[in-house]
Amino acid sequence: MARGLLIVLSGPSEVGKGTVLKEVMKDESLHLAYSVSMTTREKRPGEEEGVNYYYVTKEQFLSAVKNGEMLEYAQFVGNYYGTPLHEVERLRDEGKNVLLEIEVQGCMQIKEKCPDVVTIFIVPPNMKELEKRIRGRGTEAEEVVQQRLEKANREMDMIREYKYVVCNDDIQLAADIIKVIIKRNQELYQGK
Ligand code: 5GP
Repeated sequence: MARGLLIVLSGPSEVGKGTVLKEVMKDESLHLAYSVSMTTREKRPGEEEGVNYYYVTKEQFLSAVKNGEMLEYAQFVGNYYGTPLHEVERLRDEGKNVLLEIEVQGCMQIKEKCPDVVTIFIVPPNMKELEKRIRGRGTEAEEVVQQRLEKANREMDMIREYKYVVCNDDIQLAADIIKVIIKRNQELYQGK
């Protein structure tokens, strides 16, 4: 069986990555698997251990890094986030195309380690809309909102590091474009 692809999806906070990703994951013909990340941030209402993230302490996180258990990791607005290596390798060996939803520093680390990674950046229709969405969540202090906005602006400057840029003006359209990108890259990866 051919080894699966590694696909990285990035984009500023609240650009709707999660929603687009859910839509893409519905297509069983793509043989996708989502890699659950590890984080030190607090669980938000509605989130589940092992589904959204593995929630760990800073000590646990740094020990995993030290033991070489992470494919990549980064600090984001005061918390650590990272991709456990073992799970990604296991799924790819099973022929699954593994999707990671991570921020830009992590993507840069993966580009170094896996040059054939498929990188996709999701952009909002405009920055005003993005600010509205970040504020709209209403679960975070103004200081954190400001940090997320700053980070979003800096992330937008990293677009050039990505192979594909997809605008999330319409969820269905963005998901369909991503599905085409994955399908074609799978064919290319398999030499078709
Ligand atoms: P949130 O706190 O909103 O769930 O995530 C904050 C940011 O961390 C998002 O941009 C998300 O893509 C990123 N992120 C989530 N998991 C990982 C990971 O495993 N590694 C890296 N580098 N970033 C991640």
